[in-house]
Amino acid sequence: MSDLLERLRGRGWRLTSQRRVVAEVLDGEHVHLTADEVHARAAQRLPEISRATVYNTLGELVGLGEVLEVATDGRAKRYDPNAHHAHQHLVCSGCGAIRDVHPQGDPLAALPAAERFGFVLSGAEITYRGLCPDCTAGPVR
Ligand SMILES: [Zn+2]
Ligand SMILES: [Zn+2]
Repeated sequence: MSDLLERLRGRGWRLTSQRRVVAEVLDGEHVHLTADEVHARAAQRLPEISRATVYNTLGELVGLGEVLEVATDGRAKRYDPNAHHAHQHLVCSGCGAIRDVHPQGDPLAALPAAERFGFVLSGAEITYRGLCPDCTAGPVR
């Protein structure tokens, strides 16, 4: 489990039932849900929750730095609660499955000084692509 709810409590984030459901839906490992998926899951627990509330809550969580926005391949943005442990993403070109991965070494160090153009680096986002085991196995018969 990620500790998203605990982190939010620690920050004194006002936990209404609607916000709590959004945070609960986002809790866990390798969670990368689109806003619509968050809404669908939240609505299973709290049928009256509106899409606007989900979107607003996601925006707030991103603003707080407790949830990351992940964009892959022009697909819909995904929301990732694993905001405090540097990680990269492994994306399936077939079904879009995303895993959190932790390449060895410092990705910033991989960029030579000559290619930094005087920038002070603050981060790197690397997307590894391939086919997941389900997609490698071919179509379901
Ligand atoms: Zn796949
Ligand atoms: Zn992630």
